[in-house]
Amino acid sequence: MLTARPRGTNDILPREAAHWRAVEAAVHLLCRRFAFGEIRTPLFEYTELFQRGVGEDTDIVEKEMYTFYDRANPPRSLTLRPEGTAAVVRAYLENRLDAGPQPVKLYYVASPMFRYDRPQAGRYRQFHQAGAEVFGAADPAADAEVIALAHGLFTELGLLGIEVRLNSIGCPGCRPAYRERLREYYRPHLAEACPECRRRFERNPLRLIDCKKDACRLLAAGAPPVIASLCPACAEHFTSVQGYLAVLGVPFAVDPGIVRGLDYYTRTVFEVVHGGLGAQSSLCGGGRYDGLVETLGGPPTPAVGFAVGMERLLLTMEKEGVLPPAGEGLDVFVTCAGEAAGTVRRAAFALLARLRAAGLAAEMDLAGRSFKAQMKHAGRLGARFVAIVGEDEVARDVVGLREMAAGTQVEVPAGEVAERVAAALRGATRTGF
Ligand SMILES: [Zn+2]
Ligand SMILES: [Zn+2]
Repeated sequence: MLTARPRGTNDILPREAAHWRAVEAAVHLLCRRFAFGEIRTPLFEYTELFQRGVGEDTDIVEKEMYTFYDRANPPRSLTLRPEGTAAVVRAYLENRLDAGPQPVKLYYVASPMFRYDRPQAGRYRQFHQAGAEVFGAADPAADAEVIALAHGLFTELGLLGIEVRLNSIGCPGCRPAYRERLREYYRPHLAEACPECRRRFERNPLRLIDCKKDACRLLAAGAPPVIASLCPACAEHFTSVQGYLAVLGVPFAVDPGIVRGLDYYTRTVFEVVHGGLGAQSSLCGGGRYDGLVETLGGPPTPAVGFAVGMERLLLTMEKEGVLPPAGEGLDVFVTCAGEAAGTVRRAAFALLARLRAAGLAAEMDLAGRSFKAQMKHAGRLGARFVAIVGEDEVARDVVGLREMAAGTQVEVPAGEVAERVAAALRGATRTGF
């Protein structure tokens, strides 16, 4: 048990961490271009925030939250963050960002989230999301901008075959009528739906469209589309969003099956799907949530955003062969020839420090290897250069410098090694000095 990690968690090893950093860098880059500011919120919040912000009759709140009591007297119920939006809304209000110029555009990257879910490929109990939220803009251009940001991120990462699936689920004005139409459609077929859908039928019939169970998917295919029930204002908003997406050149398709699982969405909802993963899996989901800020105690504030699951994104990138090369590798491995302890090793250690100070990635043997084994180890580490320090070299204040790929070796004054390596690495061709 001591060496087993809890089910549904994952270790990110150095090779994978390099891939994570590449994705995170793309998120930072794109969000900078779109003028979003980064926000980092706590890993846990008061439980009520998620009960109110995510919705009581969602899978997340009903059965997936990691909730615990702290040691305060009386104890408070806390919950490990199961999603990003509620916490960002809380931070927006608590830090009075609503009092400044609007809109406020925020993003987070690779934030750990926690849900007690059945672990499967690309799905963990501790998982990570990147996401973006815009507060204080009712303009349909804000919806389009958020969708374009999500789409741009996947494009930046080299994924092809990315498609935006778009829908509108109306507003508190027109949705009740649609809910009633849905109930009329589902009522005669209710026995065919799964138990959970039967239970949710009265309170939130929209969730029946979202259900992934086979029988429910079959039923959902014949459900009346929401678009036909939109009020004029919602219909106009939806048309505008599509117009802006066309202007931005973002490919999209209207999909009546997209309703999103969370209660707080209004009007625009969308998913970004990748062909390779099949219909079930989306890389990213989001939409407009004009009622959430008010639900959490703030003033009425329009808002729109999305979240991307990092694990699924990385899995897709791996399948598509677009993962960036892992790590930058080692620039120089310093070997000690001859006497391992004493003068030679101290000279090698000093050289190592100079190389690092010059901004190079440098390493030397710390495992007592023979000279031959050190050379082999340098090859294994992918070192571009090996600096050879021996008794003779120390006496003459020089270093043998071998370029591994070319197999060439020259003798260089000890004080010039860093400069020579840096110059060679900067050069267009990495052969010779
Ligand atoms: Zn409406
Ligand atoms: Zn169902």
